[in-house]
Amino acid sequence: MTQCSTQHPDTATGAQGRVVVVGSLNMDLVARVPRLPVAGETLAGYTFTQVAGGKGGNQAVAAARLGAGVAMIGCIGRDANGASLRAGLLAEGIDCAALGESASAATGVALIVVDEAGRNSIVIVAGSNGALTPEDIARHEALLGSADVVVCQLETPPETVAAALAAGRRLNKTVILNPAPATGPVPREWLALVDYLIPNEVEAAALTGLPIGSPQEAAAAAAALREQGARNVLITLGAAGILAATEDGTMHLPAPKVTAVDTTAAGDTFIGAFAAELARRSSFDTAVRFAQHAAAISVTRAGAQPSIPTRHEVQAFAV
Ligand code: ATP
Repeated sequence: MTQCSTQHPDTATGAQGRVVVVGSLNMDLVARVPRLPVAGETLAGYTFTQVAGGKGGNQAVAAARLGAGVAMIGCIGRDANGASLRAGLLAEGIDCAALGESASAATGVALIVVDEAGRNSIVIVAGSNGALTPEDIARHEALLGSADVVVCQLETPPETVAAALAAGRRLNKTVILNPAPATGPVPREWLALVDYLIPNEVEAAALTGLPIGSPQEAAAAAAALREQGARNVLITLGAAGILAATEDGTMHLPAPKVTAVDTTAAGDTFIGAFAAELARRSSFDTAVRFAQHAAAISVTRAGAQPSIPTRHEVQAFAV
């Protein structure tokens, strides 16, 4: 893979603390339709929009807007979508020195149709995200070494996630794993590499095989994950907030009450904000509260990345 240009956002933006995100970048191709099409049907859509997405990209943008210096380790294709995603990250002040380009795979895409009731149907083609390798992680060890917090998800190959988690642990960084999308249990040895495991309800159910319909059931799932070796588990419960199980105990932390318009990327906003705040050396309680405020603002706005607030907006919300 070749690399894109280098930028050093920390000096440019005055950000405090450094977050390195290892993960996916997708171009989201979104069509608004009257209803979801059935097999074999051709349907006329109302509108089409093309927006930057991918859990890695969303979390990197969230951490950057919320005050961290951010670098992204990922892989785009040599195509217009890749160029657009890279330009978007650079515009957020994100360091793209470790953003590689695959010569053979197209940039990842998500094909999304949304009907009038807000229901969606999504096809993700990983493309170049699948070309991010453990060798890339090894090549960028110095970058990982510069981080306060390392954040991973599951939209890149499992061996790459494993390498990133292991490097983060070895380098004594705070390691966050967002085990998304839900794919079932993750290897047990990963859990011991992670400081904060942050699944949503569906992902926590997939990880444990336990049903999660209430904070009490989330507490049982979090306890099971801690028994398997996870140090701290935060299960996001949508409008019901967070179930946190840490060495200090298990707490249900309700979300601020807001009028939700679109919850897309609420989880990514929470994770990016939490990582940014931990990178500033804030306490766990402060970081969770800040991330809940950031995520609550994001659900009051439409879209994924456009809905992610800035640090100033969160500080104003919290007053
Ligand atoms: P997505 O996949 O849409 O990014 P998610 O399923 O990963 O979201 P959620 O559990 O829905 O994540 O939400 C993450 C966090 O965002 C919640 O823990 C909560 O703090 C906040 N949040 C989500 N929905 C609401 C809401 N309706 N009101 C207030 N806060 C919310």
